[in-house]
Amino acid sequence: MPYKSRWQIDVPNIHLASLLLTSPTAPLSQTKRCYLEAARPDTHYFTPHDFRLWSQRFAAGLRKAGLKPGDRVLLFSGNDLFFPVVFMGIIMAGGIFTGANPTYVARELAFQLEDSGATFLICAGASLDTGIEAAQMAGLSRAKVFVFDNAIYDGRGQAQKGCPYWGDLVASTEEGRGFAWEVLDTPALADTTLALNYSSGTTGRPKGVEITHKNYVSNMLQYTYMGTLYPDYEQRRARARWLCFLPMYHAMAQNIFIAAALYRETPVYIMPKFDFIQMLEYTQKFRITDFILVPPVVVALAKHPAVKKYDLSSVESVGSGAAPLGREVCVEVEKLWPEGKINIKQGWGMTEATCSILGWDPREKSFSASVGELNANCEAKIMAEDGLTEVLERNKRGELWVRAQNVMKGYWHNPKATQETKTEDGWLRTGDIAYVDDQGKFHVVDRMKVSSYVMQSRVEKDSSRQTLVPDANEGSLQELIKVKGNQVAPAELEALLLEHPAVADVAVIGVTVNNDERPRAYIVLKPGQSASADEIVQFMAGKVSATKRITGGVIFRDVIPKNPSGKILRKALREEAAVELKRE
Ligand code: AMP
Repeated sequence: MPYKSRWQIDVPNIHLASLLLTSPTAPLSQTKRCYLEAARPDTHYFTPHDFRLWSQRFAAGLRKAGLKPGDRVLLFSGNDLFFPVVFMGIIMAGGIFTGANPTYVARELAFQLEDSGATFLICAGASLDTGIEAAQMAGLSRAKVFVFDNAIYDGRGQAQKGCPYWGDLVASTEEGRGFAWEVLDTPALADTTLALNYSSGTTGRPKGVEITHKNYVSNMLQYTYMGTLYPDYEQRRARARWLCFLPMYHAMAQNIFIAAALYRETPVYIMPKFDFIQMLEYTQKFRITDFILVPPVVVALAKHPAVKKYDLSSVESVGSGAAPLGREVCVEVEKLWPEGKINIKQGWGMTEATCSILGWDPREKSFSASVGELNANCEAKIMAEDGLTEVLERNKRGELWVRAQNVMKGYWHNPKATQETKTEDGWLRTGDIAYVDDQGKFHVVDRMKVSSYVMQSRVEKDSSRQTLVPDANEGSLQELIKVKGNQVAPAELEALLLEHPAVADVAVIGVTVNNDERPRAYIVLKPGQSASADEIVQFMAGKVSATKRITGGVIFRDVIPKNPSGKILRKALREEAAVELKRE
């Protein structure tokens, strides 16, 4: 029997914009602040009323510029006061939002442009050269590359390098006020994609994860519900102030800081990107109440000498997600506050599940690295290596499968990958190895399948249900590497490394250093050719964004271990690396 959440909540069938902003015309606060620029919070902020109007203006403008329901718009920018406006405006217009990592190089951006088929690229002014190059590579005309910045707030901003200003897509206040998003019926809400969040999933290159209105609304309500379990939730909510430095293009910040914060009326101070010292400064200055972190930030809190110089006494809760985090580091960080005040809790999620699935009841204390229990309405099971049998014993490991209203519709234009990841009856194979302890708490312990199985259609006498069968030939393993919480797909790095003239064969794995992973390349050189580790690192530095650089070392080998069908045996390499790193 699958594990079921102890909480059931009603999830209304409602458009995301209607859930967050009621309706196109209902009165909204004109005094409360929902999003603020951390650097200029007194002059540059939105009230819910202003935020809706800006979003409506953008939606109206997109429609005038030819956007049709289902069209994709790609935002290539770091965090910005107007990031949520672009997100919401696209959705109000019936389009599909897709955000790209702002550190992408042109090739990476071109891939997402082409794969998503975006017809508008909204590109940060500072990254315009990359945007133009990527648009050229993807065959998108310069007229569809819009310069994005927040100068529009002060009535400024301009076209650059032959690219129009995004303000051209923002209709007048009057047109905005008159813009009503289309109310969708129940089947359409479950079927209509509003965001394509890119993820490599368990294996392969990045894929567009289709998140529907139903997915988004469910996940947001589930996430918010956990917070309401605090006995003094209303008082906490009234004084809450959040700081967003996690990237808004990623599911975690997008769901928590753009959507959930607006829903629960928590003001969000937006930082353009992560800067540790600035994070400490802003926490002190704005009396931030909740830390929503990823493991490298928790590690920095434990180790960085500057931490002691700041007043962090306003912080009431600290959570971490997106990648594994050891309990020892948490214990260190908890000492920054009076004893018993802070108990760091971890949550687990996945882009394919909109954002989150597992988290902690805030009334309980965590004494381990557990990621807590199932969010409201969610189900999970631990599956044995064969992919057919459920592991029912506590403390026994297997692959984590989850089923919930927030599990993606599928991968964009990729039925094969969808079929391999999501069963017909709705289970998402996460590729993560987990177990459930005696207290019913989940522990995610690894990201690698020990053996493999594939989804096949097995036509049985009276049914043609899909099922998972062990696959004798495949050696496919969970490959995803997480660098500072960012996804890195080995397959992508391997393909690039093979472009080096001296490289005959290659395998990329993640090695863990200091609670974080780093990509490491194992390389076989062509006969008679030579290349140093440094050359390989430099070669890649020019081709990928910073988190994908080969920072975990380059190891030359005679052969890459593979199974008979040619799949890389990453597990063998990871075990080898673990032994070696232990020795160091
Ligand atoms: P993403 O889709 O970028 O959110 O990445 C999802 C993956 O991140 C999961 O499949 C896990 O491998 C990993 N992950 C997320 N949260 C945690 C956590 N708390 N502990 C360990 N791994 C995590």
